[in-house]
Amino acid sequence: MERQLLQQAKEAFVSGRARPLEFRLQQLHALQRMIMEKETEISTALKQDISRSQYDTPLLELISIENEIKLAIEKLAQWAAPRPVEKSLFTISDEVYIQPEPLGVVLIIGAWNYPWALTLIPLVGAIAAGNAAVVKPSELSKCSSLLLHALLPCYLDKDLYPVVTGGVSETQQLLRLRFDHIFYTGGSTAGKLVMEAAARHLTPVTLELGGKSPCYIDKDCDVRTACRRVTWGKFVNCGQTCIAPDYILCEPCIQGQVVEFIRETLLEFYGADPKCSPDYGRIINQEHFNRIMSLMEGYTPVVGGQSDSSQWYIAPTVLKDVPPHSRLMQEEIFGPLLPIVTVSDMEDAINFINEREKPLALYIFCSDQKAIKRMIEETTSGGVTVNDVMMHYTVSSLPFGGVGQSGMGHYHGKHTFDQLSHQRACLIRSLKMERVNLARYPPQDRRRARR
Ligand code: NAD
Repeated sequence: MERQLLQQAKEAFVSGRARPLEFRLQQLHALQRMIMEKETEISTALKQDISRSQYDTPLLELISIENEIKLAIEKLAQWAAPRPVEKSLFTISDEVYIQPEPLGVVLIIGAWNYPWALTLIPLVGAIAAGNAAVVKPSELSKCSSLLLHALLPCYLDKDLYPVVTGGVSETQQLLRLRFDHIFYTGGSTAGKLVMEAAARHLTPVTLELGGKSPCYIDKDCDVRTACRRVTWGKFVNCGQTCIAPDYILCEPCIQGQVVEFIRETLLEFYGADPKCSPDYGRIINQEHFNRIMSLMEGYTPVVGGQSDSSQWYIAPTVLKDVPPHSRLMQEEIFGPLLPIVTVSDMEDAINFINEREKPLALYIFCSDQKAIKRMIEETTSGGVTVNDVMMHYTVSSLPFGGVGQSGMGHYHGKHTFDQLSHQRACLIRSLKMERVNLARYPPQDRRRARR
């Protein structure tokens, strides 16, 4: 089945129909129409998958997909055009340029936490770049996955952009096949398997992985505002966001304030009982519920801590004075638990970050411009937002991706187009002026004589 779909996609790609810009634009417009016409169905599927609030779905997923489509439609001619480059003395009269060209068939493997954005944003780039693409959404967000499988063929070319549903075994079947690029979003354990499988065919990969994204709050900043912003970013989608602040680093003297401001904000956002709030989500499944609950073992939360396994509900939870070597601080939390680790100052925070794997995102709350620049300069991460969380993700002109263990390759806007294109080096020379070439032709005597 997977082999047959790939074969169809390959044949459709080889037919050349994905290549003309008019076709790419027409497919992008159709995708745009799908998002507009099916917003309610998409929101309902997400409500069933992760109890996501109907209000959050447009804000968190659909607007970003729509913006990516709009941008690609507007800029496609510019992105796809040949780019003349600087020439050397020996190529001065030649035509020298870079021609972006499609790679072939791209495999897009998405994760469950934002099942639409994580499959469709790469797909926008794949279509714009003139590729075919096989889309494999996550089996864990089942309703979204089935809906995508039902909708996409009604709007897009069925052979060029098929959807494969199913779980690990279907993904593994796909990974045995030869694609021209694999674009994977998910955890690093499966990411390594993807890269291993891709290596067998020398297929290039983009790996959008996760990790622990630190959030440093400086004692001299507006801590109340910082905590409001952190609270939103941590608990939206029930903490299941790859760039959610994973933990807070702050000095002991403001830890109490941080806890109180977060408590106050939670009350404002989700009321006295977040379980009853239409704005607060649920954990994706029992396995993740158990995993997150086990991370809390041995700790007494200062905020939250309640749970209900019948609904996969875990309250927004804050834990203070968390030891740096605890399990909570070893693996990505990917749930609504927010540990606070105290550090003695900014330098200590920088060392703390640098002693660990390179994170996907770094958040700094600070009012001192010099200190901000210092922290950016002395650390590394896929991306960084200062005095807010996650906002760098929303800027299409910024490359979104990880570094080191948090991933490789990047996307959004033109970056997706470039990631899924081959940048072909082209030189066109005329057959005239043959005398110029004598300097490089044998025999040696003649070359020496010309010098
Ligand atoms: P997941 O379980 O949905 O897996 C992701 C994809 O990999 C799915 O399509 C699944 O079918 C496939 N898969 C799972 N196990 C596999 C295996 N053994 N072999 C082959 N394929 C397999 O998602 P997840 O891994 O739980 O996702 C959460 C992780 O993804 C977190 O670490 C999060 O930070 C990361 N993430 C990263 C981004 C990003 O943009 N960088 C976005 C979202 C999530």
